[in-house]
Amino acid sequence: MAEAVHKLRCAHCRSEIAVPESYQHGDHVKCGSCGMRHKVSRGEGTPRLVIADVGPLRDALQANKALTDRLEAELRHARGSFGLGVNGFGIALIYTFVQIFYKDHPIDSALAWEAAGVAIFSGLALEAANFFFLAKRQRLRRLSDEIDEATTEGRTLQQKIREASRL
Ligand SMILES: [Zn+2]
Repeated sequence: MAEAVHKLRCAHCRSEIAVPESYQHGDHVKCGSCGMRHKVSRGEGTPRLVIADVGPLRDALQANKALTDRLEAELRHARGSFGLGVNGFGIALIYTFVQIFYKDHPIDSALAWEAAGVAIFSGLALEAANFFFLAKRQRLRRLSDEIDEATTEGRTLQQKIREASRL
């Protein structure tokens, strides 16, 4: 009579690993695809596979923690400098209006040219500010996404380490 075989998944590369019914709790099984070593965890029902050597997992978790810390520092820094450029342009605009309205400039063609110049300059400045504002927002969003990703990855690693440590 053929022995029952459980088809389980490698905890690392998700390849299928055949585990015969006779395998006991704590027995070692190696993944045929990636070579990752597992221990068999037998409880109620279908046995499960947990990673046997948590050393590489701990290393990965540490690297993950370092990455998360670096990304969070980068995000804080990016948030800290947020809006400085826009404030600068606001001040430049106020300065320009003061020049025109409080310096008693006669209303003539020279002023018209000056006003046009200011309009073009401030228009360009606002366009530039808008560009940097958008670029900054995209950067903030990208950093947040990367942090989410790294945090999820870290949680997965921690869970694998916890499962492996139970055996
Ligand atoms: Zn594998």
